[in-house]
Amino acid sequence: MKDHIKHFKTILDDKGVLLPEDGIDGYVSGWRGEIGSTPCVLRPTSSQETSQIIAYCAAHNLHLIPQSGNTGMVANSVPDESGEQIVLSTERMNKIIDIDPINKCAHVGAGVRLSALNDALAEYHLSFPIDLGSDPCLGGMVSTNTGGSRYLKYRGVRENLMGVKAVLADHDGTVIDDLKPLHKNNTGLDIKQLFVGTGGLFGIVTEVMVRLSPLPAQSATALLIPRDMDAAAALLIEIEKSCHNYLSAFEGMSHNAMQRALSHNPALTNPFGQDDVPHYAILLELSRSWPEREAEQPLNDVLENILAELWERDNAPLENALIGAPERLWALRHSISEGVQKSGKLFAFDISFKRGDFFRFREAMIERLKTHHPELTLCDFGHLGDGGAHFALVIDRDDTRASVPSYEKTVRNFINDAVVLEFGGSYSAEHGLGRKTEEAYAKYTPDEVKALTHAIKTAIAPIPVGTIKI
Ligand SMILES: Cc1cc2nc3c(=O)[nH]c(=O)nc-3n(C[C@H](O)[C@H](O)[C@H](O)COP(=O)(O)OP(=O)(O)OC[C@H]3O[C@@H](n4cnc5c(N)ncnc54)[C@H](O)[C@@H]3O)c2cc1C
Repeated sequence: MKDHIKHFKTILDDKGVLLPEDGIDGYVSGWRGEIGSTPCVLRPTSSQETSQIIAYCAAHNLHLIPQSGNTGMVANSVPDESGEQIVLSTERMNKIIDIDPINKCAHVGAGVRLSALNDALAEYHLSFPIDLGSDPCLGGMVSTNTGGSRYLKYRGVRENLMGVKAVLADHDGTVIDDLKPLHKNNTGLDIKQLFVGTGGLFGIVTEVMVRLSPLPAQSATALLIPRDMDAAAALLIEIEKSCHNYLSAFEGMSHNAMQRALSHNPALTNPFGQDDVPHYAILLELSRSWPEREAEQPLNDVLENILAELWERDNAPLENALIGAPERLWALRHSISEGVQKSGKLFAFDISFKRGDFFRFREAMIERLKTHHPELTLCDFGHLGDGGAHFALVIDRDDTRASVPSYEKTVRNFINDAVVLEFGGSYSAEHGLGRKTEEAYAKYTPDEVKALTHAIKTAIAPIPVGTIKI
């Protein structure tokens, strides 16, 4: 490895190669607690440098793990424990290259943080509207096809992506420039899609061109407490009927999930005041891109009227509703992920269903868990509006089963079999593929799809890059 490191130092400047003695823990530790090891971290500043690295790794049979913000949730962004995989961090490709407010697009380096892009866009009243509780980088977002809380209004990265520049995982490190800032372009194969949601399998994204949306100028939020779980699905339909164009989030939070967020984050105020945390709550957000206008109902009033109308119905779907400041209500939603993770040993499932099926699944699994796994506590939350759910199961850390791999495997099969085989859902709705999902990929992917993916990979990008095994 010494000679390889020596060579990398001829490609990159003196900040470009980090060694274990430089303090690289942050690059080998993943969000879910996975810890790997690497002989070095490479930090190129351009596509050309990345290309030289890939070509060299190809010639010497070295395995690269691309990393951007390292917020991946499926053990996908850090090396394994072999000590042989090399981390390639995009963090120095962090320039906002261009913002075009007329064409409504931004061209950025793969290592630009989502928050940095949105800060820069604010002066143009524009945003890249993918919203989530972490602060990833644009390269990682392309590679995982991030969804997030406002998916039902804006969709995910794929739908907001105009182009990428990427270095193919081939012997030459071929640079593919597919960065045309065009809203429409039907001229053959949409090559950039190779790099969307594929976790580096086909190569490393170095630059990204994204489509922008107007920054919301008004928003109104409420916590809805549904009468029961059937009413939660009915509420979504009713709200879509009355204000579909304004609806920007419809997020579910179970009692256990909210409770853990509140216990973990002392800075949170309990929006339910002295009252108990309810059995389930939905964070509803309406937004629009223009400020309040005279003779137009403010958005808070629109929301209040819709809720009052639902409330007054016979057999009202609402048990209660609280209108509150967006920052306060979103703080609760965004604290759940960490609160749940810190509350015990977590088995996380990022699943999705045909809208409406989630509650049938939830009800069935609550009953089955009581019988088969009473040691697990369900702390679910997620993106109800698009059929997505973070089905988080927590076991006490002191329980001896918590760290037994065969136990985790049993739990994963128990949940994923029901999701995929029984309810026709997905075992990875938005977090993509990684070590945590490789068994599920092997089990549930049709043979023809596996064979085609394998054939494409072998034909155009045969060099091992990333954590996905196909
Ligand atoms: C608190 C919290 C909340 C979250 N909420 C959501 C959510 O609501 N919705 C959602 O979709 N996700 C969510 N995530 C998951 C995560 O933030 C996303 O998957 C994110 O898009 C990952 O981006 P990243 O820059 O951190 O990538 P990384 O974690 O660095 O990498 C992710 C994957 O992409 C590959 N990769 C990284 N950069 C490149 C590149 N330049 N070229 C090729 N491959 C690359 C990596 O090898 C890895 O496979 C959440 C995470 C946390 C911690």
